[in-house]
Amino acid sequence: MSGLLCQWQGILSPTHIYGVPGLGLGESSHSPCPFNLISLPLVPTGAVGLYNIGLSCCLNSLLQVFFMNTHFTMILRRIRVPKLHAEQRRSVPYQMLLLLEEMQRSKENAVHPQKLARCLTANNLKLFIQHDAAQLFLLLWNLIKNQITDCQLADWLSMLYTIQIQEYLVCQECSFETRRNSKMLTLPLPVLTHNSRQLNTLEDSLRCFFQSEQLTDNNMCLCEKCEKKTPCLQGMRLMCLPQTLTLHLNRFYFRKPNLTQKISFSLSFPQSLDFNQILTQEQCHSDAKEKADWQYELFAVVAHSGSASSGHYCAYIRSLTDCKWYCFNDSSWCVVDSCPTLHWASLEVK
Ligand SMILES: [Zn+2]
Repeated sequence: MSGLLCQWQGILSPTHIYGVPGLGLGESSHSPCPFNLISLPLVPTGAVGLYNIGLSCCLNSLLQVFFMNTHFTMILRRIRVPKLHAEQRRSVPYQMLLLLEEMQRSKENAVHPQKLARCLTANNLKLFIQHDAAQLFLLLWNLIKNQITDCQLADWLSMLYTIQIQEYLVCQECSFETRRNSKMLTLPLPVLTHNSRQLNTLEDSLRCFFQSEQLTDNNMCLCEKCEKKTPCLQGMRLMCLPQTLTLHLNRFYFRKPNLTQKISFSLSFPQSLDFNQILTQEQCHSDAKEKADWQYELFAVVAHSGSASSGHYCAYIRSLTDCKWYCFNDSSWCVVDSCPTLHWASLEVK
């Protein structure tokens, strides 16, 4: 598969990551999460690779993205160690912590992630197959979140990664509006418009994602007030963005039931992103204080090269401690120039 995952880090003081209303976190009873206090380098040299243990380039790339995020590793370092050996072997966060520590101690260029792989297999996560980065990210994140036994740490993890949106449906005959708040781990962005036109920039893709849609004819919805199916306006409003924001570009489409094709063209990618410059007032459902934090710097890109059915993933990640860009390609890694999006774009153009 050929999804492309990119992560962004909030550049302003991440005060909005605690006490966020609506997350059900019992805001006032929790101590603030000290995300902005932690600044631990991965290793003095900045990076250690992960050996490919069989079609594991996607897993390796995602693990590097987790481990290079010091906000995430701060949470990982605080987990309770399971008491029994059997529990330790099955605990994804604990096995990730062990791998992280092994990478930090290692004098080698790379380490083997077998114990974590066995743990993931024990948790019914299929390895040794081609993965889609966004799907695997969701599976991994859910395993981590569900297995962190300390509620406060689990809450911090949610706050670090969870996007909050409001879905709405407005009846075009009586203006009655139905709303539903929901949480997402990634924003799945289109690379084509509804009429299959190519989108040229990430900003255009975000605007397209938040654009409302007219539901008419066969797509009409039941209005509670009119008590019949009516034409509706359907859309989403952005409510809250996390410190670590994950965007996912849908670069594959289904031509026939069994034929997935990759969409390959260049889509320009900014280094910094300000949602206030991209979305309209109507596309946001937040106060000015929340929106002031909606400014991001590109942190990581998990890029796929190859076709929809086969290929290779590598990760470009900006270290939060030395601010250099690294390219992780399984067991090898290197420092790359300050503009990894150029590398990314060259992978895309076929
Ligand atoms: Zn109505």
